[in-house]
Amino acid sequence: MAATERKLKRAVLWEPAPDKKVNCFLCNWRCLIADGKVGHCVVRKNVDGVLYSLVYDRVCAANDDPIEKKPLFHFQPGSRSFSISTPGCNFRCGFCQNWQISQMALDRSAIEGQPYSPRQIVSAAVQSRCRSIAYTYTEPTIFMELCAETAVLARERGLANIFVSNGYMTTQAIDFALPWLDAINIDLKAFTEDYYRRLCKAHLEPVLDSIRYIARNTNIWMELTTLIIPGENDSDDELRRLAEFIANEASPDVPWHVSRFYPNYEMADTPPTPAATLQRALDIGRRAGLRYVYVGNLPGSEAESTFCYQCGELLIERIGYSIRANAVKDSACPACGARIAGVGLG
Ligand code: SF4
Repeated sequence: MAATERKLKRAVLWEPAPDKKVNCFLCNWRCLIADGKVGHCVVRKNVDGVLYSLVYDRVCAANDDPIEKKPLFHFQPGSRSFSISTPGCNFRCGFCQNWQISQMALDRSAIEGQPYSPRQIVSAAVQSRCRSIAYTYTEPTIFMELCAETAVLARERGLANIFVSNGYMTTQAIDFALPWLDAINIDLKAFTEDYYRRLCKAHLEPVLDSIRYIARNTNIWMELTTLIIPGENDSDDELRRLAEFIANEASPDVPWHVSRFYPNYEMADTPPTPAATLQRALDIGRRAGLRYVYVGNLPGSEAESTFCYQCGELLIERIGYSIRANAVKDSACPACGARIAGVGLG
């Protein structure tokens, strides 16, 4: 992609407050920002009583990925998703896999990236034969202005739009994205406030609220991911409460990805998740009534594939991010006719 000129971008979803302050309601930090200051995410700045995005023209990653990598297993399986991000995040997860870009503004006081326009991003996605654009790697909520403008153009070209998110956006932000957001994978990182506070410097309840809101009030296709970290969120009780929340307050049809942790960033001394723990999570998820539970970051596991929840037929066989066979016909199991939830399954 060729670069365009840089510009400061007026932000969405904020309102003026007394004394030239601004109130940002893009995410659940709901920052009240004084003139000349930035919000908790460090990438939205109050300049003379107006809120601006500092990352609109800072694309720091652009890749043509399999959609299974997001992960989304029940949305256009086998397709490619053009995946972009800008620096910044509203969380501070000690285990972040993309900390070099998500924490760039905080760790290095830098916001580095290329000024690609929404039109250039969409053209690149079309040229690489992608069927969607994924706003991912860092938190898409905090680069909402770029997402929104790109997504509208993407829709015009027949592409879907996908968020891979920590779920900390406000319901106003979800409503704002509704006209163009087709699918989302939310990291439901744990089921305790202590975990969210200690390891992510954030809070649990707003994430649960977003999941409930999307499940009950929108047509956005949703899948959830939980990174299982030894000793932090891997007890039977916590896994059961996670699974029951998804089954009862979202839907048994919401796929749950239980993902293997590898030592990283500030948690380089924590061991990887044992395969037996992932199997335990899988069993707990199924016992809670979830129809689709997948194991992530454990290549070769049978639990990467989709089986019919009713008769056990192998429906979509996956090896890593590749699809070896897809037997779904008209969104149903060819063996027993059970309806398989998802979008563009086959
Ligand atoms: S996006 Fe969230 S963290 Fe950033 S300024 Fe707005 S409310 Fe604060």
